[in-house]
Amino acid sequence: MCFLGLFSRETWARGGCPWPPWAGPRHVEVAPCRLPPPAAWSAPARRPPPKARPASRPARATGPTPSYPKTRVRGSRLFEAAFILAIVELTRRLHQACEQAYDQQAADWLLPQNSATPGILDTAKAGAEKRLTGDCLKLFDKLADPKAYLKNHVTQGVVDAKGEPFQGGDATAATTRIYADPNTGQRVALGQTVFNENSWFFTGKQGGTDVEKLLTPEYREKNGFGNLNMDQIRELMVIHEMMHVNDTAGTYDDKGKPTNKILNDLIRAKCF
Ligand SMILES: [Zn+2]
Repeated sequence: MCFLGLFSRETWARGGCPWPPWAGPRHVEVAPCRLPPPAAWSAPARRPPPKARPASRPARATGPTPSYPKTRVRGSRLFEAAFILAIVELTRRLHQACEQAYDQQAADWLLPQNSATPGILDTAKAGAEKRLTGDCLKLFDKLADPKAYLKNHVTQGVVDAKGEPFQGGDATAATTRIYADPNTGQRVALGQTVFNENSWFFTGKQGGTDVEKLLTPEYREKNGFGNLNMDQIRELMVIHEMMHVNDTAGTYDDKGKPTNKILNDLIRAKCF
């Protein structure tokens, strides 16, 4: 079943009616932000620290034509200088990214919160966390600490992790922004999930209709919801978003798929 009017242009362009709007977590996971992972912060530290300052070196390099060993030393120092420049550039980029993140956080505090729905995400997160054991936990083979992600990187707001309005109105339950290695462009198992406070996830309504009324057997089957009740569906949604972060290969990306029943079926099988 499609609610065409509720599809964003972007979703529509992907090829029709891919995902029931009310259940529609439209992600930006394949448009990764370039915030490097913490590993990228620490990796350069393992390189030889620049003991001497390159600025003092040109003066020492003047004078007689250096012998071969000195040339080698200069080459090494040039490498060090280039390395320091690379660190400076990386630090600058990280600083920009962090500024954006802080700005985003500040914006969330300033924007009006939906006071009608306190605790809904917290309850769903607590429920999801209890499921993160055994086979369910094993789904997360890339996320270093799934529970830490759940605690620190799953939030709610009225704008997404990029600070932009959620596309799709109250149909969009959440978006997850996934980070990429700044050097390789490869996705890494880090990101940020924001649940849309104005969506069905919190209000229980999609386009003015109670979501529970939309949950026909056909609807459930098409979207991999099985017989879950609304609270369980919310927990499923939380785990679903986390899986997008873990899924660095993009196996379960929503884009281009008629539905993400496959991912939800997998989560239900392992976690419920
Ligand atoms: Zn998804």
